Formats: sequence, structure tokens, C-alpha cells
Amino acid sequence: MITFEEALRIVTESSFRTGREVVSLEEACGRVLAVPVRSDMDMPPWNKSAVDGYACRHTDLGHELRVLETIAAGAMPLKEVRQGECSRIMTGAAVPAGADYVFMLEDSEELPGGCVRFTGRPGNDNIAKAGEDIMKEQTVLRSGRYIRPQDIAVLAAVGAMQVTVCCRAHVGVISTGNELVEPDCVPAGAQIRNSNSSQLMAQLARAGAIGKYYGIARDEEESITKLMKMALEENDLLLISGGVSFGDFDLVPRVMRALGLTIHFNQVAMQPGKPLTFCTGEKKAVFGLPGNPVSTFLQFEVMVRAFLDRMAGVTEHAPVLQMPLATDYSRKRAERLSWIPCTITPAGEAMPVEYHGSAHITALTTAWGVITIPRGQSWIQKGEIVSVRQI
Ligand code: AMP
Ligand code: MG
Repeated sequence: MITFEEALRIVTESSFRTGREVVSLEEACGRVLAVPVRSDMDMPPWNKSAVDGYACRHTDLGHELRVLETIAAGAMPLKEVRQGECSRIMTGAAVPAGADYVFMLEDSEELPGGCVRFTGRPGNDNIAKAGEDIMKEQTVLRSGRYIRPQDIAVLAAVGAMQVTVCCRAHVGVISTGNELVEPDCVPAGAQIRNSNSSQLMAQLARAGAIGKYYGIARDEEESITKLMKMALEENDLLLISGGVSFGDFDLVPRVMRALGLTIHFNQVAMQPGKPLTFCTGEKKAVFGLPGNPVSTFLQFEVMVRAFLDRMAGVTEHAPVLQMPLATDYSRKRAERLSWIPCTITPAGEAMPVEYHGSAHITALTTAWGVITIPRGQSWIQKGEIVSVRQI
């Protein structure tokens, strides 16, 4: 049995890169940027008014000012502002030459004869300077990160209609177990519904990978072999759930070996997920995930995601938060690293949710994240700082 850290190291080091492709701005969200993006222009392109008001000279504040013109957003100013003058200006419009201050409509008093006066107290000039947000040629998005909706805004602003991203990994999904029926069936006798496959497909979609489901293999070597062969041919990575423990019908590791794959580990000192099996072939990798749904879920989040992230060249990972534990915690045995589902209290503390073990899938629906309990630690006092990751 190896440690979680050792297993994670093996998994990330076994990962291989996928290629790159160019996608349109509309398709870019959720993809991993492969080439940094630079701006083709200054932003704002000119000194821009941040408020609706009057543009004037700073030294003229408080004086009666003659209004020259009204400058709407999208129109260029026609007149230079000189001493004793101002131009009415709208938010987002270009500040006219000569002006270095915009006072707000709310801080102004209209006077007879087309004049106006500042009635507020001088402060911020309310002008966003040309190039203040982005300079031409500046890198606006670094590579190695998932593109998020707010990144899409930046891409759009710099006219990046095409972006180079990492190719999405193709990942096959197989479940094993004679007890399993698909979710659209009503289980009879000793059957249960297959929840892992749907869950894994959803996790793959969230991770930006292309999942393909191959069905339920029976707990027979021929059945597992047939589906694994097909899935290995068509994908970079294969996730097979169940059948990796040491029961009489846990045949997945045997099939992995028979297919010529190299098993790197089949037991990791972690909970849930001890019987996690990982093997590789030529530019292929297979995770044998423990059948219990919570184990499958968590092993995907901690191990499979690490593999996928490395494949896509992701260099910025989701942060592990440090926060106080909301209550005392203890466990009888501490030889494994543990993940405990938790919520976050309004006071910002990690509170374990009711959790009966690795078959308790509804515990995860109430959880925001998981607390990591390090190996060797059997109790933690309320208020002690723990590591929490979002799930
Ligand atoms: P196994 O790892 O095959 O020994 O399975 C461990 C437990 O997880 C058993 O109780 C199985 O019934 C359950 N299980 C295995 N595969 C699935 C699945 N695809 N969906 C839901 N539960 C499963
Ligand atoms: Mg099984």
C-alpha cells in the first residue's frame, strides 16, 4: 500500500500531453488556454469618462463654466475645453482635449445662459486613462488556465476571435458489476442502479473532457475484456468502476494485466478509495475506481482530475483553503489519509456533514467540499485549521 502523495505523483508523472487546436471565442469557455493572449489595443483606447457629468479643467472647479457641447458615448468630442469652459459628457464617452476633470451631474448646478457650476468637493477626476486597464501588446490571459466566463469578456474586448486551446481528452467510462442495472430500469431482486457511470460522465463534462460511455460489464473476464479493449482503442484514458478490490469477482486488475497494461499501484492509504488501481500502456492510462459511489466521485476529483489537468497543461490549480474546523473531530484509526464531506458555516468554518461512508451518495449532495484529515491524525480540536477543497 502506498501513500496518497506517492500515488498522486505516479499519476501526474504518467500523464501525457494532448495536442492543441484553435477554437472560436464562442467555444472557448471551459477549455484550457494553450497560448497566451495579447491585446491588440489600449483599453480604454482614449481617456474615458467614468460618470455622467461635465468635463473641465481641474483649476476651473467652482467657477461658472460655459457648456460647449454634449458628448455621448460613441461620439468623439468636437471642441477643445479651455479656461472657463466645459462639455457635458456621458459615461463611456471620450474626454475632450483640454479637460482633465469630470464632475458628476449630481455635483452640478445649472445656471442661466447655458452655464454650469461644480457644487461638490474636489476628489477623484472620474477619468479612466487611455491604456489604464490594458496596454497594447500586454498579455491579458496566461496559458495553462481554464477559460472562465470573465476571461471570455477579456478575449472579446481584445478581439481574440480564435484562441489556441489544449485538445480535450477522450475518456471511456465502464461500470462493472452483476448487480447493476441502468438508471432507467427498476431494480429487481439483488440489483441496484448504476449511478457511477452517469456521475463520471458528468464529472468529465465539468472537467472539460469528452466522455464516452461503454455500458456495464458483467463480473466475467470476457465481458470486462471486450468493453475495455473497445474503450482503450477509442480513448486516451479509461475509467472503469468496481471490481478492483480483493473479492472473488473483482477481476479488473487481472484483465488489465492480460491486456498488457502495467499496474503502478492497486492500494493507496486513503479513505475513501483504498483499492484505487492505476495502470498505463502506450499513451493510454486506466483508472480502476472503487465501486462505491463516494469513492468513485472523490477519486475522480483528486486523482483523475490531476491526470487530466496535467494532460491539458494546466498550471493553475483550484486552491486548497485553510479554515478552522467548526467542531471537534475524532476517528478510531488513522493509518489512512481521509476526506470528510463538509459545508462551510456562515462564520467561515468547515463543518462535517452527516456521512456514513463511501456508499452514502446523498452526503455529497449536501457538501460544499471535503476536509483532508492527514494520515496519522486521529483527532482535531474545534478551531484548528484544516485543509478544505471544493468538490
Ligand atoms: P466493488 O468495488 O465492485 O466491490 O463495488 C463496491 C460497492 O459499490 C458495491 O456495493 C457495489 O454494488 C457498488 N457499486 C459498484 N459499482 C457501482 C455503480 N456503477 N453504481 C453504483 N454502485 C456501484
Ligand atoms: Mg463489483
